[in-house]
Amino acid sequence: MAILIKNATTVVTMDVTLSELAQADIRVENGVITDIGTGLTDAEDTIDATGCIVTPGLVNTHHHLYQTLTRAVPGGQDALLFGWLQTLYPIWSRFGPEEMFTSAQIGLAELALSGCTLTSDHLYLYPNGARLDDTIAASHEIGMRFHPTRGAMSIGESDGGLPPDALVEDEAAILEDCVRVIDAHHDPREGAMVRVGVAPCSPFSVSRDLMRDAALLARDKGVMLHTHLAENDEDIAYSLEKFGCRPGQYAEDLGWTGPDVWHAHCVKLDGKEIDLFAKSRTGVAHCPCSNCRLGSGIAPVRAMRDAGVPVGLGVDGSASNDAGNLAAEARQAMLLQRVANGANAMSAREALFIATRGGAEVLGRPDCGQIALGKRADIAIWDVTSVESAGSWDPAALLMAGPTQVKHLLVEGRQIVRDGHVTSIDLPRVVERQNALARALMG
Ligand SMILES: [Zn+2]
Repeated sequence: MAILIKNATTVVTMDVTLSELAQADIRVENGVITDIGTGLTDAEDTIDATGCIVTPGLVNTHHHLYQTLTRAVPGGQDALLFGWLQTLYPIWSRFGPEEMFTSAQIGLAELALSGCTLTSDHLYLYPNGARLDDTIAASHEIGMRFHPTRGAMSIGESDGGLPPDALVEDEAAILEDCVRVIDAHHDPREGAMVRVGVAPCSPFSVSRDLMRDAALLARDKGVMLHTHLAENDEDIAYSLEKFGCRPGQYAEDLGWTGPDVWHAHCVKLDGKEIDLFAKSRTGVAHCPCSNCRLGSGIAPVRAMRDAGVPVGLGVDGSASNDAGNLAAEARQAMLLQRVANGANAMSAREALFIATRGGAEVLGRPDCGQIALGKRADIAIWDVTSVESAGSWDPAALLMAGPTQVKHLLVEGRQIVRDGHVTSIDLPRVVERQNALARALMG
């Protein structure tokens, strides 16, 4: 079925020439963009984009969807990373399949409303029968393109680790479950709706052996690798004390660099590590709100981009943001580089590039992140006729002013947001369910 997006005020394509088209139409057929121009006709369905800016769907490269159930938990509101984790671990240990499914529905809906069409997720704890499959089921329901990663923790408190013993798993069982979820769900083909990654939680919650074995397994299976790296000063100190080297060196020694690897945060990478990431094409998921919320610092995104490191954007888990609005996150990325490096350090267009094509490149998805012929029809349509856009002179206003919620959203050519509402699930009912689950966890 062909769909026409008609009369967009501006299409910000993020294509090879970064072209911007005025009064343009886009034709979508079988999940793919098949025509871009003016005066296009002949389609079974038409979406009126009069008064709208059209962009590629945003791409989220780091999240922990389950944490939407633990936003603004009192004991963790003002803690640093390690203290924050120790407050939340006991609550997370009471989660099960229903908590994972419902919190993923909420997190995915929140992302979709903010223009996101492709998201990764990092689920690294599996209490009470929870499985990665619970979140994949939620992504199928809402219709979001999804890159779940099979995370893991294996070093509990009794072994000198941070998480309680009840939340860690046996390393052989972790690797076995990685194989199971890859075989069951991973789709390597162009246009894939689900791709699975392998993602031990962080160097301080698994052994050196598991880091190495995870990299070997991922390469054997042809899937990507993801973890947290160099998030704050405590993280660097831990690495120097326990491993005798900085995180970049640790990653390189264990096979954790390359175009099939992306690391979350990287706030504390030094110049040598930035060069290593650039040379090896190792990706970074930049999470500015989470870095602000936990006081971790300002990631050297300007230096990374100048060196050629692939950088995408991530909202990070909702317990440390505590929002999951990817458009607002793009604005924050722009602002934070300006805090560190001055007003000309990052333009709105560069931040939007990072939030779209940058993220698609980090996730190994050259078929996404651009409005160009043959690319997947993942498209965000932003109404710029209301109050927050009134008086704006340029599409840059999208990040400099707003809106931060879409009017319409297409994923693989299917409209999952229409007139500002999620069409694929009964969101008010899911919100009610989520709040009931949160109340039960508080009790
Ligand atoms: Zn994270």
